[in-house]
Amino acid sequence: PTAIHWFRRDLRLGDNPALLAAREAGDVLPLFVLDPAIWEKSGDPRKHFLAGCLAELHEATDGRLVVRHGKPQDVVPALAREVGAETVHVAGDTGPYGRQRDAAVEKALGDDAELVRTGSPYAVAPGTITKDDGTPFKVFTPFSRRWRDHGWHDPAARPRKVSWARADGEDLPEAPDLGDTEVLEPGEAAAHRRWKAFLDDRIEGYDDERNRPDLDTTSRMSAHLHFGTVHPRTLLKDIADSGKSGTGVETYTTELCWRDFYADVLWHRPETAREYYNPELQGMTYCTGKQADEDFDAWAAGRTGFPVVDAAMRQLLAEGWMHNRMRMITASFLVKDLHQEWTRGARYFMQHLVDGDLASNNHGWQWVAGTGTDAAPYFRVFNPVSQGQKFDPDGDYVRRYVPELRGIEGKKVHEPWEVADDLPEGYPERIVDHKHEREVALDRYAKARGR
Ligand code: FAD
Repeated sequence: PTAIHWFRRDLRLGDNPALLAAREAGDVLPLFVLDPAIWEKSGDPRKHFLAGCLAELHEATDGRLVVRHGKPQDVVPALAREVGAETVHVAGDTGPYGRQRDAAVEKALGDDAELVRTGSPYAVAPGTITKDDGTPFKVFTPFSRRWRDHGWHDPAARPRKVSWARADGEDLPEAPDLGDTEVLEPGEAAAHRRWKAFLDDRIEGYDDERNRPDLDTTSRMSAHLHFGTVHPRTLLKDIADSGKSGTGVETYTTELCWRDFYADVLWHRPETAREYYNPELQGMTYCTGKQADEDFDAWAAGRTGFPVVDAAMRQLLAEGWMHNRMRMITASFLVKDLHQEWTRGARYFMQHLVDGDLASNNHGWQWVAGTGTDAAPYFRVFNPVSQGQKFDPDGDYVRRYVPELRGIEGKKVHEPWEVADDLPEGYPERIVDHKHEREVALDRYAKARGR
């Protein structure tokens, strides 16, 4: 018999229990469904990454990967009928969209074929870890203790041979040309190369160096983890096998736990993809209208006049990635200097980030906005100048992404208005006065909290 393996966020052959389950069931027809609505909305770097992953999978499946365009609830049942498959294998998707989509596919398959879920994209599947009384954790640290105590499975073996079935498909999506822009290399092999280099040379210094956007000190595993070119359980096993220990290893493991934590939060509270996790700030007011739209556009284009914010937003547009510290600074700027609702920024990030992930992104935004888990510090307003001076101490990061400022040396680049009477040609004036907006933000938060 033929079994369909429907690849979604598991674009790999190694350590893929759902694929092994498909192989047990028969000849495997590898399928990827390209939803044009999602594809069209994605930024070029995201398209580039996905197209690269699919090209690699196509080769790894002896050229048999079937790509079909359309809504999964139409495409998957039609293909199952066409090839007489009795089972469609997937890795479980626990996000709100994935759950709905899979329920719709299951319904459309009816009695023709069964949707078989095996595993999840997380070290510990969402919903597994609870407090003693069975309720979900609302705070990270106790969750992370339980998470470590619970542990995770060993990676599944890479199938040595799979008998791939054949069906007609459409052309693989084309990767947009990104010119000379340096972007993350897509695919399973690239994930392992990048990971090995990080594990060999950088993980031990991770705790000290991870806040530096000017240096390449983080693992860059986020897009790989999102699309499943590597599974976190493989990373955790490699860390254990490496025999390395210390604060770098500990902090890195904790970061992987944040990813599981936010997925767990979203599993229990799917509405928090949009709604405030902590309703205390529900009554908050925001700037809207023409001026707000112009401010938003300046933020999105990297033309706020604050060098570190502009560098980060331009990096996002060009590469589809941004350093964690820069995500916090740019998000804080939109929410607390421009007084706009976090949901607007989160939507923009989701379109452009290659690693755009509903749970990590939207809860990252909620954390910055003070509406999320972990008694968030709503009163913290990042100062874009001092943050830049601290974390990009030589100004190299700013000069890399903001060519107008390349003539300014060292950390002075964070305050170009102090260097000369006129700003360098083409660089915008600051769109707001940070000191003033900080006061406005604190006032808005105090009002919303009823104080
Ligand atoms: P590393 O520092 O090497 O971390 C290793 C891995 O741990 C990451 O790949 C990621 O899977 C996980 N991780 C690290 N920090 C976090 C965190 N705060 N929350 C959840 N997981 C984490 N991460 C995404 O994967 N997708 C997103 O869409 C996303 N949006 C964000 C939006 C905002 C406003 C903020 C503040 C953070 C966001 N993050 C997101 C978290 C974090 O910024 C990225 O995971 C990280 O920058 C990716 O780079 P890296 O792989 O080199 O990270």
